[in-house]
Amino acid sequence: MMRSRRAAILVAGFVAFGLACAAYSLNRRSHAAAELEEAGRTLHRLISQRVDQHDAHLTSLSALVQAADPAPVATVEQVAASIIRFYPRIVGIDVVDLALSPPRSLLNAADPAMVAAEAGQAVGSNLRTRALDGGNRLLLVKRALTDGVGHYALALVIDMARLSASDTPLPDGTQAQLRLIEQGRTASEPESAFSAEIASRTQPLRLTLATSAPDWPLPPPAFLALAVVLVALAALLVDRLLEARIAAREAARKAVLAEQDARLAHAGRVNAMGELASGIAHELTQPLTAILGQAQAGRRVLAQPEPDPATLAGAFEAIARNARRAGDILGRLRAWISKSEPVVETVDLTELANEVVQLLSANAQGIGATLRVGGDGSRPLVQADRVQLEQVVFNLARNGLEAVEGRNGERAVTIEIGTQGRDAVLAVSDSGPGLSPEAQARLFEPFFTTKPAGLGLGLALCARLVERFDGVITGENAAGGGAIFSVRLPRVASEARQEAAE
Ligand code: ADP
Repeated sequence: MMRSRRAAILVAGFVAFGLACAAYSLNRRSHAAAELEEAGRTLHRLISQRVDQHDAHLTSLSALVQAADPAPVATVEQVAASIIRFYPRIVGIDVVDLALSPPRSLLNAADPAMVAAEAGQAVGSNLRTRALDGGNRLLLVKRALTDGVGHYALALVIDMARLSASDTPLPDGTQAQLRLIEQGRTASEPESAFSAEIASRTQPLRLTLATSAPDWPLPPPAFLALAVVLVALAALLVDRLLEARIAAREAARKAVLAEQDARLAHAGRVNAMGELASGIAHELTQPLTAILGQAQAGRRVLAQPEPDPATLAGAFEAIARNARRAGDILGRLRAWISKSEPVVETVDLTELANEVVQLLSANAQGIGATLRVGGDGSRPLVQADRVQLEQVVFNLARNGLEAVEGRNGERAVTIEIGTQGRDAVLAVSDSGPGLSPEAQARLFEPFFTTKPAGLGLGLALCARLVERFDGVITGENAAGGGAIFSVRLPRVASEARQEAAE
């Protein structure tokens, strides 16, 4: 029961731990995705601005070459140098004279044939773009048109890595890549976390961000340790709460059982009243006969001419004494059958055994048996409900008397009181036939009886009551014949004797 509960808690703990790790990974993942998206948008904006600057440079250079004929090469060269100084991503600026054959480069920064070929394909003053070095550089070509015809072409060579460099650091493990979108080619899109076209009419570029971060990041050791500790604490708490609940239920169940036991015990005592009736009658006969005798004697004294007051006083005293005795007998019986709430108090076992002997003495006499209390004189004290414990001893002694009834030879039942270690022991032994093997195996089973009119509840009840007071009851055959039943209860300190007497 407890094992399966703990196993369930352990499984739940593992599941909780797994969920915590998954939640962490999910959170990190969405956080990283948001970060990447943000970085991508910022870089995209930045590149769009840079690209616009290329247009502006080409337009101003175009105006410059058209300012004079032939083009003012020295001025163009100076302007180009200053542009390159301010914009390191622009690695080359050239002007190609298309009127010459073959076309000639004025600033020697680009391949004139390539520039001429691109310029030849340009429609009007539109820009032409071309990837160089496998996409590492970009060639921009623009024709400087004068009256619809131009014999100069302007070229910018752009370093793609610098064009796509971010001002702010990108998230860890992130790579930015800028590619020229080739006309008519739908290149297969690489798997990327962010991808967007640069908003430029003249330079069709696509920015992609790729990340090498794992899709599902593992939680760091500190998180794992904290999760383990928290899950363990929660599991411990749940375990304790469940335990407390089970204990509360168990206590409630015990309370119900105790209530049932008390009723059963009461029924048992009322039942025993029938058996005790002849004994009671017999016990009451003595004081009543004495009272009657004394009353008659008193009357005789009064009939005399000079009644002796001393004799009369003696008779009244005897009447009073015997009436008290009869009252005591009835009081004891009333206490025995009354249905009082169980009260745990300090009980002197010897005193209790004597009470039982008093209750059963008439029955013992009736069957010619002796019933007595013996022991080592240690007078141990225990904690128990007096009436219920008395019933245990009563049941054992009555069983003993029933066992010796009609036996040839000695008919004796003895209640021995002694101590053993920390325990008090009360043993009821008899000189009966002893326990049959079947009885030995089923002694404390409810409704087990070998007697024609037996109920089989006496010993079962004894066991329940003794257990209630943290004791044990055993029954076996004595070495010298007959049965012996022992009740073992935790002993309380003898300082409690004072309290018991009160
Ligand atoms: P009951 O007395 O109504 O039969 P108990 O629970 O007191 O119920 O006893 C159960 C049975 O145990 C008895 O019927 C009897 O067979 C056996 N037993 C109890 N006490 C003794 C004893 N002192 N000697 C022999 N047998 C006994």
